Amino acid sequence: MSTVSRREFVAAASAGSFGLAKASNGKLALMGGEPVRKAQFPSWPKFGKPEEQGIREVLQSGRWFRGYGKHVERFEQAYAQLTGARHCIATASGTAALFTALNGMGVGPGDEVLVPPYTFVATINVVLLQHALPVFIDTDIETFQMDATKTEAAITERTTAIMPVHLGGGTVDMDAFLKIGARRKVGVLEDACQAHLAEWRGKKAGTLGAAGCFSFQASKNLNSGEGGAILINDDDLADRCYAFHSNGRSRKGDASGFSYLAHGSNERLTEFQGALLLAQMTRLEEQSKAREQNAAYLTGLLKEIPGIQVAKMYSGCTRNAYHLYMFRYNKEAFAGAPRAEFLKAMSAEGIPCSAGYSPLNKEPFLAAAINSKGYRRLFPEKTLKHWQEKNQCPANDQLCEEAVWLTQNMLLGPRGDMDEIAAAIRKVQAGAPELKRA
Ligand SMILES: *Cc1c(COP(=O)(O)O)cnc(C)c1O
Repeated sequence: MSTVSRREFVAAASAGSFGLAKASNGKLALMGGEPVRKAQFPSWPKFGKPEEQGIREVLQSGRWFRGYGKHVERFEQAYAQLTGARHCIATASGTAALFTALNGMGVGPGDEVLVPPYTFVATINVVLLQHALPVFIDTDIETFQMDATKTEAAITERTTAIMPVHLGGGTVDMDAFLKIGARRKVGVLEDACQAHLAEWRGKKAGTLGAAGCFSFQASKNLNSGEGGAILINDDDLADRCYAFHSNGRSRKGDASGFSYLAHGSNERLTEFQGALLLAQMTRLEEQSKAREQNAAYLTGLLKEIPGIQVAKMYSGCTRNAYHLYMFRYNKEAFAGAPRAEFLKAMSAEGIPCSAGYSPLNKEPFLAAAINSKGYRRLFPEKTLKHWQEKNQCPANDQLCEEAVWLTQNMLLGPRGDMDEIAAAIRKVQAGAPELKRA
């Protein structure tokens, strides 16, 4: 009884300090208590008249292909202008953007590409699609980003690209990656699929390396259902990428003509998506500001909670896109309750959160690809053996067990939503002795 009342007291006190009287009942919602929050978080996507008008315009024009209409091109110009890039090439997806950029950069069979293990699977899939070897660089557990300090040692004579991912909307240490790339003459391809409007020292993520790739898939901060884009400053690389994404046809030539610069694919965006993106783009800055302000406030609240470590940013990261709000959960501060129990308890309190990625370098599909007939033809036995031995990312393994994510839409509402997130964590902490141990 005395432990219960003490727990109730702690929960009530912490909830009270945020002015949330309704959380004062300390009994966890998972155990039948009142949840901290009953309202839904802001829905995603946001849309209205501009989106309707844009799509209707394309529909009624009958010009649904970029070769016939102007919406995709107008979006490319607008996104290049917004980010300060010389060229923008819209693609069918973020995966298509990465695939196209790797092709343009000349990454091919028998090459090695340095990648993080803490990313969406597409980052790795595009390397495998090129019949190249993804070489995993461990994660900096403090920032959740690919660890630049462990990157140069992994470069071999086969390395043709370094592919850091601006994970969650924060940025990698771009100074370090650019320095290594320049010194070793290896191109840096930024996977900025989660980093719309993020900045490194005041410059937009995705404009600093040889190329930067974005995704406009439904969950992303800029969204057309599916879609993507590549930002490029070099004219020749832009020409090669444009041609690859349109079956080898040159940008300058007639889009429906039959002459080819090289082999290619069809990775084009439709006019409908171009129109949707033009409309969605008018909302991006305001939404990004809201996420940033809420995230800064939430970080201030979470700093005070023992056992919660918010993902840090490198000092050069001058703007975080907050596609994800990420922190690490230390179960020791939660009476030893495993992360899965914490996630369940938070969900029950009305705060949905997830465990995030599992270690990609340990995926069985990866081992299968690398042991395949094709890879054994392309790479010497000793290269593949060395890869297997070196394929260890202990910091990332730990991160994958401790990470907790909130999604970007949860940062779009009023500041009081952040108070409720923090109050729920405190309540679960106070009630943690009630949670299952294993
Ligand atoms: C979403 C994402 C991709 C792939 O984008 P799609 O548009 O889904 O193909 C690639 N890399 C990262 C880091 C992503 O988050």
